[in-house]
Amino acid sequence: MKIKLNDNFNNIAESYLFSDINKRVKAYKEKNPSADIVRLGIGDVTLPLPKIVVNALVKASEEMGVKETFRGYPPEYGYDFLKEAVARYYKLINLDLDLESIFISDGAKSDLGNIVDILGDNDIYIPNPVYPVYVDSNLMEGRKIHYLKGSEENKFLPMPDGLNNDPKVIYLCSPNNPTGATYNYDELVKWVDYAKSSGSLIIFDSAYEAFITDGAPRSIYKIPGANEVAIEVSSLSKMAGFTGVRCGFTIIPSTLEVSGVKLNKLWKRRQATKFNGVSYPVQRAAEAALSIEGIKECQKNLEYYKENTKMLRELLDEKGIYYSGGVNSPYIWMKCPNNMKSFEFFDFLLEKANIVGTPGVGFGEYGEGYFRLTSFASNEDTKKAVERLRKIL
Ligand code: PLP
Repeated sequence: MKIKLNDNFNNIAESYLFSDINKRVKAYKEKNPSADIVRLGIGDVTLPLPKIVVNALVKASEEMGVKETFRGYPPEYGYDFLKEAVARYYKLINLDLDLESIFISDGAKSDLGNIVDILGDNDIYIPNPVYPVYVDSNLMEGRKIHYLKGSEENKFLPMPDGLNNDPKVIYLCSPNNPTGATYNYDELVKWVDYAKSSGSLIIFDSAYEAFITDGAPRSIYKIPGANEVAIEVSSLSKMAGFTGVRCGFTIIPSTLEVSGVKLNKLWKRRQATKFNGVSYPVQRAAEAALSIEGIKECQKNLEYYKENTKMLRELLDEKGIYYSGGVNSPYIWMKCPNNMKSFEFFDFLLEKANIVGTPGVGFGEYGEGYFRLTSFASNEDTKKAVERLRKIL
């Protein structure tokens, strides 16, 4: 062929992280076939869907098989019944959302990747380490990326101090994947004030908000003025175990505008052109998950994962090892002992304790020397891992 391709793809580093991990584990297993490997690197939920969600999925699927209740294309921005459920969910944290500002999606990843469609050639500011989608989706558009360094000094919560006053697009992820670090109210006020004074946009990823237990804001809109500077992208993946069901939502308030052009209007146009909506049974399942009873059932699953983070935190406290996360997050971000690099510690854990985790460097250069442990294994496996870690750390 002689067509031109998007050369920006040449600038995107191949992600070898998980294939590299799998290769190392496979090689170890071949040499040590009887090894009982415990996986604390899982970034996906493992508990089944709450019953109320399954019932809603089944009922809505049956409706699709009956002439009177069959439905064709869903609305591009989501059914009102689900947008109303999202609005009620926000009402629980005392926020009033206009239905026009809510967009139902097939998950946060799609919207985080697609939002670049409505933005021009801005400077992009992204925390590091962080979930890699923000970086790669901007590289695909040829955008210039600046990293906001996360470190022990700033508790892996980079702040706007020292940034110039030019308008920029800023990604914030709180609670953060992989560090579990969560901005408190005052810190988010600083970000929102900075965005206002510099004319910047914040894209706030709240995919892990349901894990928050220490009173930190669960939405950027808890901050006064955020509805003039922030888009919020959220998901039912971790809150309700929807990683395999696929549903999320994005909030674009009608108050977000640039020279009189509403971002909400551009996003409507973008979605109506390139997206045909989320299936009816999935939207009914999401509605069930966001009901009061559904939230209770989902929280039971989150409590189960939290028992795991508690066990891991207690061990790291006992050993005096630095970590962040694990309170408002299913992730614990620990410093590798003895100044080991991330992959050195990976090999050390695999060999000495048959435990698999995720090397921090896989989430950005400032993740080097750190390691992510997750709470998505079973309580039994996590307990086993903690006992092994106690002996080798
Ligand atoms: N945002 C963050 C920070 C994540 O860690 C993930 C998934 O791991 C996502 C978004 C993607 O969520 P979804 O499953 O809704 O696409």
